[in-house]
Amino acid sequence: MSKNNKKKTFTFPSPTLSITSDLSKLNEQLKLSNFVFDYASDAITITNKDNEIISVNKALEEITGYKKAELLGKNPSIFSSGKHNKSFYKSMWYELLNKGSWKGEVYNKRKNGEIYPEELSLNTVKDKEGKITHYIAIFRDISERKKTENKLTFLANNEILTGLHNRRYFIEQLESYIQQPYYEKTGLSLLFIDINHFKEVNDVFGHHVGDKTLQLIAKRIKNSVSHHDLVCCYGGDEFAILLINSPASNAEIVAQRLQRNIEKPYQINEISLDISVSIGIAQYPEAGNNANALLRNATQAMANVRHLQHSGIGFHSEELQFKHLQKISLKEKLKKALNENKLSVYYQPIINASTQKIEKFEALVRWYDDEDGFIPPNCFIPIAEEFGLITAVGQFVLKQACSDLKKLHHLGYNNISCSINRSINEFTTKQNEDDVISQAILLAQLPFNKITIEITETVAMSSNVLTANVLQNLRANGVKIALDDFCTGYSSLSNLIEYHTDFLKIDKSFIDKITSDKSCQILISTLINLAKKLDITVIAEGVETAEQFNLLKAYDCHYIQGYYFSPAQPIETCLAMLAQQ
Ligand code: C2E
Ligand code: CA
Ligand code: CA
Repeated sequence: MSKNNKKKTFTFPSPTLSITSDLSKLNEQLKLSNFVFDYASDAITITNKDNEIISVNKALEEITGYKKAELLGKNPSIFSSGKHNKSFYKSMWYELLNKGSWKGEVYNKRKNGEIYPEELSLNTVKDKEGKITHYIAIFRDISERKKTENKLTFLANNEILTGLHNRRYFIEQLESYIQQPYYEKTGLSLLFIDINHFKEVNDVFGHHVGDKTLQLIAKRIKNSVSHHDLVCCYGGDEFAILLINSPASNAEIVAQRLQRNIEKPYQINEISLDISVSIGIAQYPEAGNNANALLRNATQAMANVRHLQHSGIGFHSEELQFKHLQKISLKEKLKKALNENKLSVYYQPIINASTQKIEKFEALVRWYDDEDGFIPPNCFIPIAEEFGLITAVGQFVLKQACSDLKKLHHLGYNNISCSINRSINEFTTKQNEDDVISQAILLAQLPFNKITIEITETVAMSSNVLTANVLQNLRANGVKIALDDFCTGYSSLSNLIEYHTDFLKIDKSFIDKITSDKSCQILISTLINLAKKLDITVIAEGVETAEQFNLLKAYDCHYIQGYYFSPAQPIETCLAMLAQQ
């Protein structure tokens, strides 16, 4: 019989056997899934439809530091680091609910409070009707990867020795700033710094000292600019700085600060080094509308200043350079004038409006230069402030004014008081401004209440605790405080109340308009009334005409100061005026 003719017998598979084998397969699968769940290197969280944790695996316990029992029933927000805002989570949930999944990088927090980055994928599980039954979150800790990435980015964008940005990154950033129309209005300043004769440091002391010096220079540069500004080691001993939102006037101030700080002596082991710099400034958009042009112009300005002066600050624009040089030469002249006692003090009478008698004088500094004649304080006071000479000027005026007032008192005019102007820098850079003033008053043996210190609102308002203390101490001694140039700056009435000033000086620019401008009249008369209620005495400044004087008198203004009575005069002329009244 052929094989084909062999009778076939069919046996039906036993149902019990089939179920058992299916179950065992299922069991195998479940075991496998559980094994995978438990031993997966990624952390897994399963939450129910109410987003309460119902299961977590071992990896999750390891990464987060929480034990399973601590997490069951909790919301996964227990892991949140607070580093993401509401809208981040809102869009994450939106995508998860609408697409069924979400993937991204999230910062979460471990039980010990440490925040770490993770790569997270979220999925929903739905039943037959499409209703969500579970959420599954799978994530892995990517701290190490991030660290490597950051290290690589740092190496790509920074220069190793100084840690500053490198040239490539700087130019890239510079281009991207230039492309934003916003900066065309607010300005960007490019400063190019070259250390003069740096090669000699390397040649004489070796590269080890050269490298250390460059690191110290880099540090000083960083500390001289704001953290928004971009600082780069352009190569070797050259540095480039981009000042963001910076007009040319600011660039000049920063360049001066940089020069001062970089040129302070260096001490490396037993070696002392003196270094000088040349700084070139190019201003966007005036000096070019692309990175190349700006860099070329800044380097050119730097090379020019080095060629002409060996060191210092150079502007790309001739006009700015001229102004800068004028300023520098005025500073040098002022230094010389201070050394040679070329400054003097004049006094402008302050008249009691009802009696029309002189009761006070304001001390105003005068500088007569043999070449240029009288140089107005509005020209040299800002320069004295900028170059740290204001303390010397202030100290001279203070001493002279006290000694001149003592002379008047000696001659019988002991009711006369004197106002002395002080700049904001004198309050913010010194520790003991109150002592300095009090000492000078004591030295001249004057009563404290015959000295008034004139400050502007910027000084009064400065949140500096030091300033507040100085003013408080002075007042406690009996010294009077006057708020100068009121109606120009902030002119805040609440400052008036808060700072307990004794006098308020209405600025000349307001007095100028008093006869022609109705609203100005209302403002001044209201201010005088209000001041009276606050026990503050008002002085009107810059009164030039009888008309102005009569109006102010009608408003009951206490004191008048201005050319209508007299400009500032030498003390001898003031004595003669007192003798006549
Ligand atoms: P200031 O404190 O507001 O001084 C008043 C200025 O107005 C003085 O100018 C004075 O001569 C001028 N003036 C007074 N009455 C009239 C007038 O009727 N018409 C006109 N056109 N001008 C009048 P000066 O002496 O040129 O001083 C200018 C500024 O320089 C002062 O303004 C003050 O801010 C500053 N200053 C003067 N001396 C010192 C000082 O010793 N220390 C400090 N820190 N600043 C001073
Ligand atoms: Ca004044
Ligand atoms: Ca004034």
